[in-house]
Amino acid sequence: MENWHTQSAEATKESLGSGNNGLSSSEAQKRLAIYGHNELLDRGGKNPLRMLWEQFTQTMVLILIAAAVISAFLGKDLETIAIMAIVVLFGVLGFVQEYRAEKAMAALKRMVVPTVRARRNGSVQEVSARDLVPGDIVLLEAGNVVPADMRVLESANLRVQEAALTGESEAIEKQTAALSKPDMPIGDRTNMVYLGTNVAHGRGVALVVGTGMQTELGKIADLLQEVETKQTPLQQKLDQLGKLLAILGFVAAAMMLILGVLTGEPLEDMFLTAVSLAVAVVPEGLPAVVTITLAIGAQRMLTRHALMRKLPAVETLGSVTIICSDKTGTLTENRMTVTTVNLQDEVIEFTPGESINAPQKANLALAIGMLCNDSLLSTNSDGEPDIIGDPTEGALLIAANRAGMQKEKLEELLPRVHEQPFDSTRKRMTTVHKVTAAFPSDALQFTPQASYFACTKGAVDSLLKIADKVWINGQTEPLSEEWHEQLLQTNNQLAQKGMRVLGLAFRELQEPANHGNSIEDKLTFAGMVGIIDPPRAAVKSAVATCRTAGIRPIMITGDHPLTAAAIAHELRITENPEALTGEMLNNLSEAELEEVVSRVSIYARVSPEDKLRIVEMLQKKGDIVAMTGDGVNDSPALKTANIGVAMGITGTDVAKEASDMVLLDDNFATIVAAVEEGRVIYDNLIRFVKFSLGGNLGKVLVMLCTPLLGMPIALTPLQLLWLNLLTDGLMGLGLGTEPPEADTMNRAPRSPDSALLSKKDIAYISWSGVLIAIITLGMGILYFDPTNPEDLRWQTMIFATLGFAQIGNAFGLRAYGYTPFSFRSNPLFILMAVLTFGLQLAAIYAPFLDKFFGLPALTLSELALSMGAGVVTMLAVMLETRFYKKKKATNHN
Ligand code: ATP
Repeated sequence: MENWHTQSAEATKESLGSGNNGLSSSEAQKRLAIYGHNELLDRGGKNPLRMLWEQFTQTMVLILIAAAVISAFLGKDLETIAIMAIVVLFGVLGFVQEYRAEKAMAALKRMVVPTVRARRNGSVQEVSARDLVPGDIVLLEAGNVVPADMRVLESANLRVQEAALTGESEAIEKQTAALSKPDMPIGDRTNMVYLGTNVAHGRGVALVVGTGMQTELGKIADLLQEVETKQTPLQQKLDQLGKLLAILGFVAAAMMLILGVLTGEPLEDMFLTAVSLAVAVVPEGLPAVVTITLAIGAQRMLTRHALMRKLPAVETLGSVTIICSDKTGTLTENRMTVTTVNLQDEVIEFTPGESINAPQKANLALAIGMLCNDSLLSTNSDGEPDIIGDPTEGALLIAANRAGMQKEKLEELLPRVHEQPFDSTRKRMTTVHKVTAAFPSDALQFTPQASYFACTKGAVDSLLKIADKVWINGQTEPLSEEWHEQLLQTNNQLAQKGMRVLGLAFRELQEPANHGNSIEDKLTFAGMVGIIDPPRAAVKSAVATCRTAGIRPIMITGDHPLTAAAIAHELRITENPEALTGEMLNNLSEAELEEVVSRVSIYARVSPEDKLRIVEMLQKKGDIVAMTGDGVNDSPALKTANIGVAMGITGTDVAKEASDMVLLDDNFATIVAAVEEGRVIYDNLIRFVKFSLGGNLGKVLVMLCTPLLGMPIALTPLQLLWLNLLTDGLMGLGLGTEPPEADTMNRAPRSPDSALLSKKDIAYISWSGVLIAIITLGMGILYFDPTNPEDLRWQTMIFATLGFAQIGNAFGLRAYGYTPFSFRSNPLFILMAVLTFGLQLAAIYAPFLDKFFGLPALTLSELALSMGAGVVTMLAVMLETRFYKKKKATNHN
């Protein structure tokens, strides 16, 4: 690889054939064909063979394999084949599900590929980072992940954090001059930026020299291949349950064996029956149901605009107790419009949609807003202006446009030579402009005395700290106490209306840089603008949903406390109108902060560090916190929060990388929708476990009780395995995709520390198991004729009843709020139920299955009777659910 850092910027551009206009689209296309897409080879993905191997080495499957080997030794070929069929079926099912889940997650990850701003065909375009090629010119700004290896061409305080490559956590200042030593370590190449590092500060322009595997990160990509995919907490708990059941299965099998032998059954037969019983206890379908439920859940969330980056987050979402949200763009639309310009001695209202006749004295303030501005305007197909860049800045451009100013023309007269970019701690930004000879001295009702003109815009409180003069109708006056007070008051009045307020100020300079001293000092305050940003339509009801769901919404914003309070009030975020600022938070002790966070739900003028402190304190108090963030400095808070939520549209790449979930539409309501999906997923898994364990308990009790009741063993191993396959397998899968219940968002969040199964769940499993056993045994006793042991109709009745009771159990367990037979709410369930029902009838009636099951056919009335058992089970289950829901509803009132 060439030593790009030793070449001058010009030489690098020349050798990569890239002029000031960047590459042409056709050249970029050609190079893409040569160099390939800018991506690292798939890393971290699980090898499919390994995935398959893991399916067959799970505890549950190993038990089955042992059972098959034993039955093979006993010469029971049919049983061996049946058990092996189950092994293969569940193994393949599990594999397919996991493979699909893995693919789905990989696809989700690919969706977060950032777009970059590249110069092509002479204009700046949004290009997918995947399509970058050597020779492309890329614009960088704070918050970008560096999308390729690049030579820096321009740097405005560009600082890059390169920990991913060098381990150095301090951001490195980048510059453009060539370096002399060819074999410098990467960390010292200050004129280069590398793929996978983060722009921490400033702005820059850089030339792509290497993409994809040809980058420094690409060289070490192989080392990153093995990313361990950890089990989610829920998967761990389910695994433990599986192991417990394996032990219980073993105990049940031992009891069965002893009972059978004591009642005179042949040992060999009993052995197989015992093994089949053990198999019946183990919920083989569980791993497949878990994987698919989580993965389908993640996909469902995607359709609701929530992109999950980490699978465990899917289940954590269901436990969220607090959502800390930014205001701008998340609670509001981020559609900014300037409605007021305040010029100290005159207020100009900008009525949206109407042309304005701004007096000339407004020009200076508007020009500052236009010059100190990184956004651009383009015209869309409807002839309306479209903002490229920050909406706040876009609003300022539109306002100045409406007063007759053009950014390009103004920048020709006052070209930018230096800048101090915006950051959310200073809450302001400054640009320095050269005053050209062509600048007409009366254009802004202001005649520059010096060669350079600095424009600063930012939060009014932040500007007043560094201003010492105020501009009033073409004159400067010292910024007296009275003026200070009056300006703050005007600011408050605008903020109280929910407006974002920006102050505009300037300073004249003899030199473009102020030699070690800050340019942001001794400013002249020129005016302020009030900008409205309406709350999003869906947010008010989402906030209300949050509150019925036991989730506390909290607003954390960089904006003014009065603006924050006004919007919070409009959205009914809290009854407590108190708004605390970051400064106030800093003066609180830990104990005071602990008290404050449980009371106050509006935080304003907050820095990213304050955000982190708030999250940590909430977590200390036991809350599960979802926290939104968009800026480069939000990463620590996003990583610390239980669910870090990044903005898909306005968020920086760095915030996205630190997050668990990305909001594709930046909308608060989407977080609430994702929480609902999280709860649904959990409900469905518990539903499956309850269903499966209740039914299995029923089977075990039936098997253990018939010898005690003086009857032969109830079911043959094959019959047992069949029932197991139908219920655990088919019905279980159907139950895993139920829709939200009527009260999903009307109950408190689930504690993540709580046991997998609540007392109520265990009670359910016990009584439903006993009920199924009693009904089934009742049928057996009714039809068992001790004088005619050859008549096996009693066995068919037991087989049929157990099957139908379990189908009824599944119907009864369906999501609360729908009729049990609702098709549209979950077609898969109905399909599985019909299939199970058909297969159950086939086992009883189809002659070719006789040699497997040996079940004599039932008459129609006998069939109806056994199906009646299913209906009774369904009704009992539904009664129980409704009883609990009623009780809870009454408790709530
Ligand atoms: P939220 O946290 O609710 O999303 P925010 O992220 O928009 O709010 P910041 O971007 O930190 O908040 O802005 C804080 C303050 O900085 C604003 O109230 C405004 O006064 C000022 N500000 C915002 N954008 C700019 C900008 N482009 N240039 C100068 N000042 C700005």
